[in-house]
Amino acid sequence: MRDQLKGMQTRLREIAAAFLERPDALCFIGWEMTPDEKETRPFFARKPRQVKRLVWNEMCHPNPASYLPGLRGSEGMIGVAVKGCDARALRELIRANQIERKNLFVLGIPCAGLVDPNTGAIASRCSECQYPVDLDYDETLGPMETPDLTVERSAPDLDAMSLQQRRAFWKQELDKCIRCDACRKICYGCYCPECIFEMSDPKWATNRGDLADKIFYHAVRAYHLAGRCVGCDECARACPMGVRLDLLNRSLRDHAKEMFSFDGAGITDEKPLLRTFSTEDPDPFFGGDK
Ligand code: SF4
Ligand code: SF4
Ligand code: SF4
Repeated sequence: MRDQLKGMQTRLREIAAAFLERPDALCFIGWEMTPDEKETRPFFARKPRQVKRLVWNEMCHPNPASYLPGLRGSEGMIGVAVKGCDARALRELIRANQIERKNLFVLGIPCAGLVDPNTGAIASRCSECQYPVDLDYDETLGPMETPDLTVERSAPDLDAMSLQQRRAFWKQELDKCIRCDACRKICYGCYCPECIFEMSDPKWATNRGDLADKIFYHAVRAYHLAGRCVGCDECARACPMGVRLDLLNRSLRDHAKEMFSFDGAGITDEKPLLRTFSTEDPDPFFGGDK
């Protein structure tokens, strides 16, 4: 496995260097090791000589596609390396006109699962890995197939809880939040130029630590991401307080599936969940009875 990853990393560097030789190339976004060598972080290579810093290994958690909206309007082609879950986010960004496909060079990285640096086990996000079947890659490092992984996600059984128990669970969970906004900053889908939580007039929520403000923040973010969350767990990984954002996101996704048969962001060409309307909607607002 190690040799295979090393071989892929060598090829990744070769492809990135060839891309950066192009006169119209702006940068190539991938991963580099952090100074302590324990994790990776995003790396923007701008010159062919910098590609030696690019890595591919089981710690490549960050999503390089999440930096694309910030480069919108830049002159030149952007190269980006994506594993399967990143590719789903990329597909959503293109569909939402956050970046134009014609300005990208997309390198698909076949991924066999990442490792959680805290446990050494396969990362729980990989238990639900689903590749987009038809993202149009410019090059890949091999067949982009969904890995067959069995991974346990340690989680309380929220469905077995009463409404009161669930409410108590989420109050306790969200009260841990210190409103550092790392979850918002790392999420590929939080690209609004002005987030409502950065506005001062009106001031929608304070950072003073009130539970009501914390709940409001997380409810708004969860609903803004409903039908767009690709389940990458990056928000949960970034959280310094260990808030179970992965459970919140999954809960939204399961409801979208159950109520609207919506199959998940970046997987199909279905219209985005919150941009659809049906006269068959069971909500009483539309004449239904639920
Ligand atoms: S979910 Fe896991 S296995 Fe699937 S592409 Fe993402 S990191 Fe790789
Ligand atoms: S899992 Fe978190 S970071 Fe990833 S897309 Fe969903 S909300 Fe954003
Ligand atoms: S990263 Fe964690 S602590 Fe920071 S705002 Fe998000 S949930 Fe709160």
